[in-house]
Amino acid sequence: MSSIVCFHAHPDDEALASGGTIAQLVAEQHRVTLVFATRGEVGEVDDGFLGAGTTLGEAREAEARKAAEILGVAGIEFLGYKDSGLENTVGEDEKSDEFAKSNVDEAATRLAKILDDVGADILTTYDPNGGYGHPDHIQVHRVGNRAAEMAKAKPRILWATMNRDHFMNLRETNEEVRLAMEGVGESTAEGELEHELSKGGDEKSGDEKGDASSGGESALDKSENGNEDEDEDENVAEDGNKETENETPENNFGWPESEITHFIDVTDYIDQKMDSIKAHASQIGEDSFFMKLSPEARIIVLGTEWFVDPAQKPSDKKLGSIFD
Ligand SMILES: [Zn+2]
Repeated sequence: MSSIVCFHAHPDDEALASGGTIAQLVAEQHRVTLVFATRGEVGEVDDGFLGAGTTLGEAREAEARKAAEILGVAGIEFLGYKDSGLENTVGEDEKSDEFAKSNVDEAATRLAKILDDVGADILTTYDPNGGYGHPDHIQVHRVGNRAAEMAKAKPRILWATMNRDHFMNLRETNEEVRLAMEGVGESTAEGELEHELSKGGDEKSGDEKGDASSGGESALDKSENGNEDEDEDENVAEDGNKETENETPENNFGWPESEITHFIDVTDYIDQKMDSIKAHASQIGEDSFFMKLSPEARIIVLGTEWFVDPAQKPSDKKLGSIFD
């Protein structure tokens, strides 16, 4: 039995990015601990969704706990930072309690304690661009790296990411996916992958809410994003620099397939993953991108999860288990 800690920025990230992998790990008797940097306080929510006196942070924490139960995780922890929102920038500010502005060592100390408490063998974080440039996600990458160094448990790190080539190709070739993405503008409760797919990291929108009122044209086509990789880690900066040479939505989203090491087939766990996504009802409503997909398209969009092991060179051999 191994101990795996999955570190995420906001409730719903865990279900979208790694829900299938988590369900599989639990089914194989491993111990999975979910750690959230924030409660997703600045996501958007439909008017009237929250009960009287309930804050969005409280609602999203409850959703995360429900999703964790569905996935069967052993423990769930919150580091206690505030959601920074998509418009914020990374940069330490000790007066702020926003995660993106947190002191990396301080945040990493909190995470490292959890890593040691559960004897973590593997820690999953995000790629250096945080999937699509969200400052909290980029901070997950940094804090995760630092925590793994600090922890006595010395866990192996894997970056959860999205296969950029897969999604760019899907957008061109899969009519159903393309139409579902175009319809996103009519949705009022949208989750992150949906947001990422449709917006390509548009800085003008909020974190969990894609205001994709784009008149039928996929917002991905016109999104502009000048995301700079500011990571100080040498290896990472080298990787990241490659990504910033030509800043288009296409190369801001996810990670190139040629640099992904792990391709996890989660088809057998797709129902559990969908249920965990649905648990985040404040962000992912019935009319959202995911709910519009046919069962076949769900497999294409959500049936594989991707990780990069920064210590391994990508090769033609696509690794199929996070233990590879
Ligand atoms: Zn997020």
